[in-house]
Amino acid sequence: MMATSDAAEPILVLRQIVKSYGGSAPAVGPVDLTVRKGEFLTLLGPSGCGKTTTLHIIAGLLSPTSGTVLLAGRDVTGIEPPKRDMGLVFQNYALFPHKTIFDNVAFGLRMRKVPKPEIHQRVTEMLGIVGLPNVENRLPDQLSGGQRQRVALARALVIQPTILLLDEPLSNLDAMLRKRMRYEIRDLQQRLGITTIFVTHDQDEAFEMSDRVALLEKGHIAQLGAPEDLYDRPVSRFVAEFIGDANLLPGKVVGMTNGLVQVNIGKDGNFSATDTTGSLKAGDAALFMIRPERVALLHASEAGALQAKVLKRVFSGELINLELETTGGAKITCSKPSLPQYRDLAPGHDIWLRLDDGRALKAS
Ligand code: ATP
Repeated sequence: MMATSDAAEPILVLRQIVKSYGGSAPAVGPVDLTVRKGEFLTLLGPSGCGKTTTLHIIAGLLSPTSGTVLLAGRDVTGIEPPKRDMGLVFQNYALFPHKTIFDNVAFGLRMRKVPKPEIHQRVTEMLGIVGLPNVENRLPDQLSGGQRQRVALARALVIQPTILLLDEPLSNLDAMLRKRMRYEIRDLQQRLGITTIFVTHDQDEAFEMSDRVALLEKGHIAQLGAPEDLYDRPVSRFVAEFIGDANLLPGKVVGMTNGLVQVNIGKDGNFSATDTTGSLKAGDAALFMIRPERVALLHASEAGALQAKVLKRVFSGELINLELETTGGAKITCSKPSLPQYRDLAPGHDIWLRLDDGRALKAS
C-alpha cells in the first residue's frame, strides 16, 4: 500500500476556493484542502453539497470565483483541462460510441502526439491492467456495463495522469457489480499508486475505498479524516447523522473528569463522554452520542446500568435492531449481531443497558 501518512507530500492544494453561481451563498467554499501523493480521497455528501462543483474546479472544467488550485506546487487555476495532467472518469463513462475500444483508450495519447508503436504498447498494457484483454476491436455497446467502466478507467489512466478524478463512476451499475468494482478500483489505485479523488454520496462506498474522506455540507468541509475519525469522532450533529446511525441525546455538560466530559441527559443521569472537538465546557448545551452497536445490553441490574423496555425489535438477518425506552424516557436504538442471546428480546421485555463509550458534541 502507498504511504499516506501525514508526512506524505502534498500533490494538490485548494486554497480558499469559492464558487458562486450568483445565489445568496456560494455553492462551494471557501474550501481549503490538501490531497497527499498516492492517497485515495473521497468527497462525500448529500445531493447539492458541492461535490461535483469542487471536482470540476480541480479538473479545470469550471473556473472558481476566487481561490487557487495548486498541482504539484504549480498554480493551475487558469489552465485548461487537457494541460492539467488529470484523468477523468464520469458517471456515464462518456465513451465514444462509434470508436473501437482501442481507439477510445488511445484517444488521449493521440491528442498528445505519442508515437504509434508506443500507443499500441500502452493501450494493450492498460487494457490488460484493467482486466480487459482481447476487446480492442469491439465497440462500447458490445461490452457490459462493468466492462465499459473499466474501459473508461483505462482511457483515463493510459495518459499516466498525476491525479485520477472519479465522478460517481459506479452509480450506473447494479448493486452486485457496484460492490465488486469498489474493490477493483481500490486495488488498481493501490497497485498503480495513483492519487485519486472520488466523488460519491454513498457512505459505504466512501468508507470501503478511501484513505481519507472529506464530508461536505452546504459547500463547506464539515469534517476531513480517515473513515474511523469520522465515525468515532464526529465533530457535529450533521457528521454524526450522515455517517452511520447515531443515538443523539440532548443534555448539558456538568463537569470534566480525567479528560472526559460529564453530560447530564435528564432523568437518566450523567454519562462520561469523549469531547470530539475538545471545546465543551461546564454549562454548555451538548449532545450525548452513542452508536447503536456500542450500547451494551445486560440481563440484570448493576451499578451504572439503566433500566429499559424493548419497544420494537427488527430482524434484518445479520443484525437484531432494538428500539428501547429507558425509565427516564430516553429512546435508544441498539443493534446486536443476530445471536441466540439477542433473538428472543421481544417488545415488552425488560433489559438493562450501559452507555459507556459515548461522545459529546456541541449542540447545534
Ligand atoms: P449531486 O450529488 O446531486 O450531484 P453535488 O454535491 O455534486 O450534488 P453540485 O452539483 O456541486 O452538488 O452543486 C452544488 C450547488 O450548486 C447546488 O445547490 C446546485 O444547485 C448549484 N449549482 C450547480 N451547478 C449550477 C449552475 N450551473 N448554476 C447554478 N447553480 C448551480
